Amino acid sequence: MNEYDSNRISDIASTIGFKKTNVSKDADCFVLNTCHIRQKATEKVYDEIGRVKKNFRNLKKPLVIVAGCVAQAESDEMIKREPYIDMVIGPQSYHKIADLILDYKRNNKKIDATEFDVVKKFDELNKIPNTQNKISSYITIQEGCDKFCHFCVVPYTRGPEYSRSFTQIIEEANTLVNNGAKEIILLGQNVNAYNYKKYRLSSLIKELDSIKNLKRIRFTTSHPKDMTKDLIESYRNCKKLMPLLHLPIQSGSNSILKSMNRKHDREYYLSVIKKLKNINKNIKISSDFIVGYPNETKKDFADTIDIIKKIGFINSYSFIFSPRPGTPAYDLTNQSEINTFSENKKKLKKLQNILDNFQLEYNKSFLNKYTEVLIENKLKKQEKYFGRTENMIPVIFDSNNCQSGELVSVKITSFNQRNLFGFHIDNKVKAA
Ligand code: SAM
Ligand code: SF4
Repeated sequence: MNEYDSNRISDIASTIGFKKTNVSKDADCFVLNTCHIRQKATEKVYDEIGRVKKNFRNLKKPLVIVAGCVAQAESDEMIKREPYIDMVIGPQSYHKIADLILDYKRNNKKIDATEFDVVKKFDELNKIPNTQNKISSYITIQEGCDKFCHFCVVPYTRGPEYSRSFTQIIEEANTLVNNGAKEIILLGQNVNAYNYKKYRLSSLIKELDSIKNLKRIRFTTSHPKDMTKDLIESYRNCKKLMPLLHLPIQSGSNSILKSMNRKHDREYYLSVIKKLKNINKNIKISSDFIVGYPNETKKDFADTIDIIKKIGFINSYSFIFSPRPGTPAYDLTNQSEINTFSENKKKLKKLQNILDNFQLEYNKSFLNKYTEVLIENKLKKQEKYFGRTENMIPVIFDSNNCQSGELVSVKITSFNQRNLFGFHIDNKVKAA
C-alpha cells in the first residue's frame, strides 16, 4: 500500500512542478513514506534522515517530509526529536501535500497534518490521474481496520475501515489498463472487507474480469473471517483471478489466536482452504506468521508448525512479535517470561526453514515443464526477461522474441529458493 501511496504522492506533487529524481543530491525535497507495523521500521526512518542530513551538510537544506503511519503515530513528537524534519503527514492527509508544501514555503512554519480525512482524500485523489504505468499495477480499494487484533497498530494509524466508491475504482482500473497495465492488484489492510453500498470484493473482481485488455487480477491482504461464499465462488467464476491467495493466519494455536483477538480458529481457517481447493485444487496459499507472541508455549508453537505442514504454504512472511505501544499485547509483554529474544529467534529460524522447504519443493515441481508467465520487463544489462507465474513466482528467462505485457509459455530448466529460470521460443518466429 505504501508503494501505491508513494506513487499518488508523486502524482500530487507534480501538480506544483515537482519531478522525481534518482540522484539524491539533486533533490530539494525528500518524502519518506513510512511503515509503523514493527518497531524496526520506525528506527529506519530516523536512520534515513541521518543519511540525508549528512549528504546535505554543505548544501542547501532540502525540505524533509515524513509521511505514512510513523508520522500518524508520532506526529509532532518526530519534529521535536529530529528538527531536520519540516513536516509530518499522516496516511489519510497526504492528498493535501501540494497545498502544505506551498504553505510551508510561504510561512516557513513546521507542519503537523495527521487528521483522519479519508473520504475527502479519495475524492481529491480521484481528480488527479493515476500515472502509474507498470504491467502489474496497484489500486487501493479499502483502508483501515475495525478488527483490532491485539498486536497490531493498523486500526490506530490507518483508522477505521473505509471502502472507496465502486465507480471510482473501476474508472481508476480503466485508466491503469489504458496506461498499459495487464495485471491489477487490489489493495487493502483488509481487502476482503470491501463493502460499498451493494458492492463487495467479488463484485469488483467480476467487473475487472470483463475489462478486455486486462489479463490477471489479484487482491491482498485478506482476513480469514471475511472469506465469504461469494468471494470464494469468484475463484470458480472469474477466469482472470489468479490461483494464489495470501491469507494470514498468524498462529496455528487456538489459544494464541484467541489471545490475539483474531476472531477465527484453526478449524475455521482449514475449512476455508478446503472450500477453495474444492473449486480448484491448484489454488495455493501464502500467509503471515508471528512467533513469540506473549505466553506462546511449546505446544502453541508446535500447533503452528503442524498447520504449516497440513497446508504447505508456498510463500510466506514471518516475524518475531514486536510489542507496539498502545496495543493490548504490549501490556502482556512483561507478563510473558516464556519467550526470550534468543528463544524466539530459534523458533523463527525453525519455522522459516520449514516454509522455505515447501517453497523449494513447489519450485522444483515446475522443472522441465511449461508454465504461463506474464512478462513485466526486460532485465537491465542482460538479454533476459522477467515475469511471474500465475502463483507469483518470479521467472527469469531467455527469449528470441517477446515483449513486456505478453503472456508467454516458458519452459523451466532450473530453479532456486525464490526464482524459476528457463526459456521461451516464439513459435511464430521459428515457423518463419
Ligand atoms: N490485515 C491482515 C490480516 O489481519 O491478516 C494483515 C495486515 S498487517 C498490516 C501485516 C502483517 O504484519 C500481519 O499479518 C502480521 O503478521 C504482521 N504484524 C502486525 N503487527 C505485528 C507485530 N506487532 N509484531 C509482529 N508482526 C506484526
Ligand atoms: Fe492488523 Fe490485520 Fe488484525 Fe486489522 S485484521 S488489526 S490490519 S492484523
